[in-house]
Amino acid sequence: MAAASVVSALTIAGSDSGGGAGIQADLKTFAAHGVHGLSALAALTAQHTRGVTAVEVPPLAFLRAQVDACFEDFDIGAVKLGMLANAEVIDTVAGLLRQYRPRWLVLDPVMVATSGARLLQSDALQALRTQLLPLASVITPNLPEAELLLGRSIESHAQMREAAGALLDAGAAAVYLKGGHLAVGDEVVDLLADADGVHETRRPRLPLDAHGTGCTLASAIAANLGRGLGLREACVAASDYVHEALKRGYRPGRSEVVVLDHF
Ligand code: PLP
Repeated sequence: MAAASVVSALTIAGSDSGGGAGIQADLKTFAAHGVHGLSALAALTAQHTRGVTAVEVPPLAFLRAQVDACFEDFDIGAVKLGMLANAEVIDTVAGLLRQYRPRWLVLDPVMVATSGARLLQSDALQALRTQLLPLASVITPNLPEAELLLGRSIESHAQMREAAGALLDAGAAAVYLKGGHLAVGDEVVDLLADADGVHETRRPRLPLDAHGTGCTLASAIAANLGRGLGLREACVAASDYVHEALKRGYRPGRSEVVVLDHF
């Protein structure tokens, strides 16, 4: 009997040797969503639960070869972008995306890790803004990333709404703006803004020092889109998944940092 065909999702992102974020979190998330996970390594990090100790970027020709190999053979329902390290990697990835035109593109504009390590060179911000934002079906910044993209601070829910609108104006088709860094109240408010308006998700704040939530959210959105959900349903289901995975989270290292349990 022939095996059933499956949808694949591709992550183009950085490897986290500590297994909590990056490509490792993306592939676990894809598997948990019943999607076949493909990966193209755009950066390599040596890291544990206390921080990043080294970063290496593979040759661009090898990055291209990985993406070509994936598109030549698999039915790719969605692409997720994570850590892209520098402007040359962004140029290369943008060129590949213009060539292959994936149905859905989820852009997690990874810039600085929770531990404080820089995951994108500061001079690459402009390349991200001009080359990738216009290609994205949805962009998933946290507040520090949205502040860097827009060059202004975001300190209230009203300013979050304005920021989401400004990111749409900058070229993203939709924005899922994560409000976890806003030190207001005991709820976390995320916003999904697109041409149809703004939709809010509210959840109780979990008192955890967590690692890999952004990667997991973006790859869960990509998996859901690849499986045929609409954007709003894909985002709400992804946010439910991250919340549950965090509640089940565990501490694999010597620090207090929790990683998500992918179920
Ligand atoms: N390492 C890699 C390779 C990542 O892609 C990311 C975030 O996207 C991180 C580390 C940082 O994860 P966090 O900020 O959740 O600790």
